[in-house]
Amino acid sequence: MKRVFSGMQPTGVLHLGNYLGALKHFIPLQEEADCYFCVVNLHALTVPRDPEELQKKTVELAGLYLAAGLDPEKATLFVQSHNPDHAEAAWLLQCVARIGELKRMTQFKDKGKGSDSVSAGLFTYPALMAGDVLLYQTDLVPVGEDQKQHLELTRDLADRFNRTYGETFRIPEPQIGKTGARIMGLDQPERKMSKSAASEANYITVLEHPDSIVKKFKRAVTDSGNEIRFDPDQKPGVSNLLSILSVLTDKPISTLEEEYQGKGYGHLKLDTAEAVIEELKPIQDRYHKLVQSGEVEKVLADGAERARAVTEATLAEMKKAMGLIPRR
Ligand code: ATP
Ligand code: MG
Repeated sequence: MKRVFSGMQPTGVLHLGNYLGALKHFIPLQEEADCYFCVVNLHALTVPRDPEELQKKTVELAGLYLAAGLDPEKATLFVQSHNPDHAEAAWLLQCVARIGELKRMTQFKDKGKGSDSVSAGLFTYPALMAGDVLLYQTDLVPVGEDQKQHLELTRDLADRFNRTYGETFRIPEPQIGKTGARIMGLDQPERKMSKSAASEANYITVLEHPDSIVKKFKRAVTDSGNEIRFDPDQKPGVSNLLSILSVLTDKPISTLEEEYQGKGYGHLKLDTAEAVIEELKPIQDRYHKLVQSGEVEKVLADGAERARAVTEATLAEMKKAMGLIPRR
């Protein structure tokens, strides 16, 4: 059975990009693989957070995992900081990673904006992510396209570790969807939809009210033409709407292009909004019931035990290979 690992940060609001690029792909995987889905709260600390808000968001994200259809009987759901092996593996891998390769990470360049006063954690974040994945001897990592570079670094670190200290890690493969792996901001279709976006007009949250979904799609930035054609360079806004509609309706983009020939952008915007509302409605309903039930905390406590049972062995191997003696 294949092993799957992925994580999301409990920051801001889970948005349509997170859902279509990652979470939606988790659901079928739980039927065929041994899955570990983590709320990566240690990653959230790389930029300043309000502690109370972080606590709240951690439980909220776990609730959304469940509401989206993850079944704790089939997949292990847990909070990263509940399994201390992640932080320990991160240190060991920081000593394998090189400053040069971390400096090349585009996410650090984007989020750090060249400032010297960002946290050191923002810089070393990819080593923590490598630890997250490698500790589980992961085969497959379902992520959005923006994580491709970090996954390549994870593979490089695993390979370097194996060559330096002896065979320890399985080398993981990314699983990145053909459509939906890079949903763009509705207000700024040249940049990816992001939790850390400055404006709420950028994203649709998984818990967003239908009226607000319609409003945001109506205001989504498109070009001044009227032709509905998939061309991310020339028509990023329209192409983004086509991508979203394509994943949600399972229709190839070429079919949608034909269907919308001669129709205006308004049509495409409304149909996309409707498809999004329909997709999110059952998740929202389940979420509101779940939160009241207190079930989320129970699932997470059980998940942490199951996660640690897997990572213990890998961490012990890493330490032994690197020359750290076991405690008597
Ligand atoms: P931040 O901007 O603060 O990093 P984020 O929106 O990128 O937040 P993450 O928690 O870092 O959210 O990412 C969770 C998952 O969602 C990852 O697999 C990531 O690749 C995916 N993802 C993030 N943004 C998008 C997007 N716009 N389109 C598709 N997938 C995305
Ligand atoms: Mg991100």
